Amino acid sequence: MRIAIAGFQHETNTFAPTVATYEEFEKRDAWPELLVGDQVLTRMVEVNIPIAGFVDAARRTTDWDLIPILWCSAEPSSYVTDDAYERIVSRMLDGIQEAGDINAIYLDLHGAMVVQSHEDGEGELLRRIREVVGNKMPVVVSLDLHSNTTDAMCEHATAITIFRTYPHIDMAATGARVLHHLKYALDGHSIFKAWRRSPFLVPLTAQHTGSTPCAELYAKATDMGGDSVLSAELSMGFPAADIHDAGPAVVAYGKTQLGADTAVDELYQALLDAEAQFCDQLIPPQEAVRRAMAHTQGPIVIADAQDNAGAGASSDTVGVLTALIEGRAQGAVLALLDDPDAVSKAHEVGIGAEISLSLGGKSGQPGQHPYNGKFLVEALGDGNILFSGTMYGGFVGELGPMAVLRVIDGQSDVRVVVGSERCQCLDLEIFRHMGIEPADQHIVVVKSSVHFRADFEPISNEVLVAESPGAHPCRLDVVDYRNLRKGVRLGALGPTFGA
Ligand SMILES: [Zn+2]
Repeated sequence: MRIAIAGFQHETNTFAPTVATYEEFEKRDAWPELLVGDQVLTRMVEVNIPIAGFVDAARRTTDWDLIPILWCSAEPSSYVTDDAYERIVSRMLDGIQEAGDINAIYLDLHGAMVVQSHEDGEGELLRRIREVVGNKMPVVVSLDLHSNTTDAMCEHATAITIFRTYPHIDMAATGARVLHHLKYALDGHSIFKAWRRSPFLVPLTAQHTGSTPCAELYAKATDMGGDSVLSAELSMGFPAADIHDAGPAVVAYGKTQLGADTAVDELYQALLDAEAQFCDQLIPPQEAVRRAMAHTQGPIVIADAQDNAGAGASSDTVGVLTALIEGRAQGAVLALLDDPDAVSKAHEVGIGAEISLSLGGKSGQPGQHPYNGKFLVEALGDGNILFSGTMYGGFVGELGPMAVLRVIDGQSDVRVVVGSERCQCLDLEIFRHMGIEPADQHIVVVKSSVHFRADFEPISNEVLVAESPGAHPCRLDVVDYRNLRKGVRLGALGPTFGA
C-alpha cells in the first residue's frame, strides 16, 4: 500500500489583530518550520504531533510505503491569507498528483482554519483533494479538539479522529487512532458515518477535559467503540471564529449505518444533557491577585485566558500586569508578554541596567495601551528553548530574543518575561530559560487559557482564571458575531444569536 501523508494546521481567531501569511507557515516557532518531503518523516519522530503518531503507528503495524508531501503550521491568529492558502494547497495537490499510484491519504489538520475567501479552510481543501483523487479513495483526517467540524469535512473525509484531551496530550495518539479506520477501509470495508452540530457554543475556558462535563463526555466517547461502532468523536469547537459552523460537533463512524446513527445520537444527547454544567469561573484580575496574595503557600497560577497567543490573541495586553503592580503583588512572575521593541531595548542596555519603557499594548486593539514604567533588566535569552512538557516536549522552539524585566515601583515584586515571537506560555521551560524556577514563585501568571494546566497545575497550589483584556473572548454573550447560524446559543445556556 502507498499512503500519501500531509499536514496543514491553523486555528483562526477572526477577532485577532494579525493575519497568517505564507511566511508565518514557513518559519519555526514552538513547532517546526514548513517541512517538505522526507523532512516530514525525519523530523516528526517521538513528538506529540498527530502526523508523528500516525507515522509511528504505521511503521510499527504495517508494511505501507508512506509518501510524505509537506507539513506546516502557524501560530494561531486571524485569517489565513488567500496567498498562503493557495500556495500551500497547490503544493499539497501537486504532491498528491506527483506521488503516482497511491491507495489512500492521511491529513493532519486542525479543523478551525478560516481563509480570507473560505470560511471552512479544511472543507475546501478536502473538496479539492476529492476533485483530484475521486470519491472512492480513503482520505482519513485527524483534527484538533477545537475543530469547528463542518458538513464538508464530514462528507469528504472517509473518517476523522479528534483529540480527546485539552490540554492536548493525545495529539500523536489521535493521529495513530485514525490508522484503525484506514486499515478497515483498505481491507475493502465501507465506513458509515453520522454527525450532529451543537445548538450552543462553549468558551475555551470551559472545555478543560480534566473538569466536568468534558471529562465525562470524553470518557463516554472513548468507551463507545463496539461491534458496530468504529469510533465516536467530539470536537468542542473554536468559538473565536465568526463563521456559520462554529461550535461543538459530534461525529460517529460505524460498520453499519445503524451503528453510526446510534452512536452519534447517544453522544449528542450526552452533550445536550451537559449544557448546564459548562462553567468557566472567570474572575477579575484584581480579585485574582488579591486571592493569590491571601495564600500563604504558592505558587498560585493565574491564567490570563483572553490574551492567549495560542488562541490567536496578541499576548501583549497589560491588564493582569497592571493588577499585579497595583495590588502590590510579591514574588510574582508573568510570561510571555510579546513586545519585540522592549526586548531589543533591553538587549541594547544589557543586564543590570535600568530603562524606562512603554511595555506591551502595541497591537492596535481598541482600548489597549502600554504600561509605562521603569524596569531593571534582570536576564536576557536567545529564545531557543528545548521544551520538556507533555505537549511540546522534544521540540526546540525558536522564540527569538527574550528578556526578564523587573518592575521598579518600590511597592510590588513583579517580573515580566518579555518575548519577540507570540507563543502561548504552556511549558515550564519558558521561565527556566530565563533563570526563573516557576515552582519557587508565589504568583505565576501565564498567558494561556487551558493548555498551561498540563505543566503548571502539578506545581501549583491553586489555579485562578482571570478575565482581562485580550483578543480571545471567553465571555461569548458579548462578542460581536455577524456570521454564526441563526438560533445557536452564545455559550452554554447563553442568549440566542439572531433572536
Ligand atoms: Zn486546540
